Amino acid sequence: MDVDLDLLRQYNQSLPRYTSYPTVPHFGEAVGREAFQAEVVRENASSPEAPLSLYLHLPFCRQLCYYCGCHMKVTHDPARIAKYLRYLKREIDLLVPLLSSDRPVTQVHWGGGTPTLLSPEQIRKLGGHLRDRFRVAPDAEISIEADPRGLTESHIAAAREIGVNRLSLGVQSFDRTVQEAINRVQPERLTRTAVRWARGHGIDSINLDLVYGLPHQTLETMEATLDGVVDLDPDRIALYSYAHVPSVLAHQRLISEEALPAPEMRLRLFKRALETLTAEASYQFIGLDHFAKPDDELACAQQNGTLRRNFQGYSTRAGADVYAFGLSGIHQLSGLYAQNTKTLRTYYDQIDQDRLPVYRGYRPTQEDRLRRHVIMELMCNAEVQKAAVEARFNVDFDAHFSDALDRLRPMAQDGLVVLDPEAIAVRPPGRLLVRNVAAAFDGHLHNASPDAQPAYSESV
Ligand code: SF4
Repeated sequence: MDVDLDLLRQYNQSLPRYTSYPTVPHFGEAVGREAFQAEVVRENASSPEAPLSLYLHLPFCRQLCYYCGCHMKVTHDPARIAKYLRYLKREIDLLVPLLSSDRPVTQVHWGGGTPTLLSPEQIRKLGGHLRDRFRVAPDAEISIEADPRGLTESHIAAAREIGVNRLSLGVQSFDRTVQEAINRVQPERLTRTAVRWARGHGIDSINLDLVYGLPHQTLETMEATLDGVVDLDPDRIALYSYAHVPSVLAHQRLISEEALPAPEMRLRLFKRALETLTAEASYQFIGLDHFAKPDDELACAQQNGTLRRNFQGYSTRAGADVYAFGLSGIHQLSGLYAQNTKTLRTYYDQIDQDRLPVYRGYRPTQEDRLRRHVIMELMCNAEVQKAAVEARFNVDFDAHFSDALDRLRPMAQDGLVVLDPEAIAVRPPGRLLVRNVAAAFDGHLHNASPDAQPAYSESV
């Protein structure tokens, strides 16, 4: 894949990642638990057989990685984890009676934090708790995030027993200097062993997470990490950009700013990674930060135009409502977004009162749904057919989106998009900057005053 550094430089700006539209900073407490419950009841009555996607948030980690941007808590106390699991199960049991029992679960994701900080027995029990309460489809995608540090073969065996078929391992960088600077020393052999265990237990789909823009990262160390990762032959690779925002995440002050790659170096690291993965290792660029082997489900869904995006990133399970359990989890119903509380005390308090721990949300308007549809088509399938949008939403596309089309014209001149009378197509250079293309349709971004804009990470 050719990467034009001048274009990246020109268009690099802070923009949403569009795992939802509108994005999370627009959620408010006016839409809370009662609105969420009413919507759950309504949607389950109107679509009693629609597929479900479940997300479990396990927030605990043994040690803080200084770059971390997740909702996590450091703990060494097994009793704290056991307590959280008791409440998580109670939360599941509060929601289940509101759901139609005919709905098949087609996707389950265990995220965190570090889900594999649970003991193998805890993994088995929580997996069993879900299976006892939901109709998990035989071909459901069940994925878990794991930290090779502290992982044992028994964890992998337990995960496989409860049906896990996708494992996502955090790597970030194999370089020792980088690892020390981010407080995540993880010898390469731990990652290699984790991959071997997973394959040995029949977990065939492996994802490895990398990060660029970390302290002390150079083209040489990036290349060495990529060589090691490609040698492990994962099915998917996620390549995230490190967003250094110490004003929001105070612990990031522990990273020395002098050690961070300069903006130009960040671009070069990204370019090198992209070229290595797509040209030398034959991974397909799915979008934003995701790569997959050409025969992987994600790559096939992209070719078939059925790729979707949700809070877990790109997904092949189109149309499934996402129900999230645990601290900070985000529910994604077609008619409502809702987020769980982010503090443990409130989480426990609410559940003790038999209340779902939702604290804020957003009810998309018809205009939001229209814009969401266009943004998701661009982000996932790199194309929007105007007639299909007009038929579905009863609008005149060009008249309704005249502002957005004006914003896209310079991008068309720069070769990022093609503006046809019938369609908008994202060209390969535009796929690297697809957030910029999608943002042209973001009504909330363009209608708010600059001071009211939430902070987003940069495109590259
Ligand atoms: S393991 Fe993941 S969630 Fe935990 S501190 Fe490190 S980056 Fe954050």
